[in-house]
Amino acid sequence: MSFVVNDLSAGYGQLTALRNISFSIEPGEILAVIGANGAGKSTLLKTIAGQLTALTGSVVIDGEDVTKESANARARRGILMVPEGRRLFPSLTVKENLQLGTATGREGEWNLDTVCELFPLVAERLNRRAGQMSGGEQQATAIARALVGNPEVLMLDEISLGLAPAIVVELYDRLGEITKRGTTVILVEQDVKRAVSVADQVHCLLEGQTSLSGRNLDVAEIAAAYFGTG
Ligand code: ATP
Repeated sequence: MSFVVNDLSAGYGQLTALRNISFSIEPGEILAVIGANGAGKSTLLKTIAGQLTALTGSVVIDGEDVTKESANARARRGILMVPEGRRLFPSLTVKENLQLGTATGREGEWNLDTVCELFPLVAERLNRRAGQMSGGEQQATAIARALVGNPEVLMLDEISLGLAPAIVVELYDRLGEITKRGTTVILVEQDVKRAVSVADQVHCLLEGQTSLSGRNLDVAEIAAAYFGTG
């Protein structure tokens, strides 16, 4: 499934937080979006997901322009996001949270059993209330919830934020299992080294604009783009 973002701009009221962003991703690839606080990373993901209205440009999946579609309609096409802060329902059990993820109505490889195989720590906690779990367990549950919706494009917003290094390594280890089934991943990350280590291509944002993008970039180049000293 091809995925193209073309000339995308978005903002909040008078503020244009994202200007003229373009990229395309091949099936099964990982694109890392890198940038400092406030660079526009979450805004980009929200605009792709349809939670924010695009001011210019388009989001095209498998040749179809979805820019005017609602967030729900895009979710049914498999454009799914794990938001920053996870947003699980804390008083529901893990299993109930996962069941909500199936609301996309999409059939595919991922279901309760297969996500439990991918994340054993989720499998062990199915009847636990989500709010009672550790941050890492909650993050794994949030990713599993998106997966049971069988995404074509899975967007992950700062999954490592505030988590212990060991669990971050574990979460990143699972990305290969996700992409090898053809799912495209867009990863927002402040940890440049970690993002670059898994990404097929990198897109750097600086104050809402592309400062650098491409494949096989070196970390020094990316760091310069990140700080705007490139
Ligand atoms: P962070 O790493 O801090 O999440 P980010 O790169 O994801 O940063 P965004 O959250 O996309 O950045 O923010 C981009 C710009 O838009 C910032 O100037 C921010 O203050 C502004 N912004 C973000 N959300 C809103 C909102 N709901 N209302 C108004 N302005 C917002």
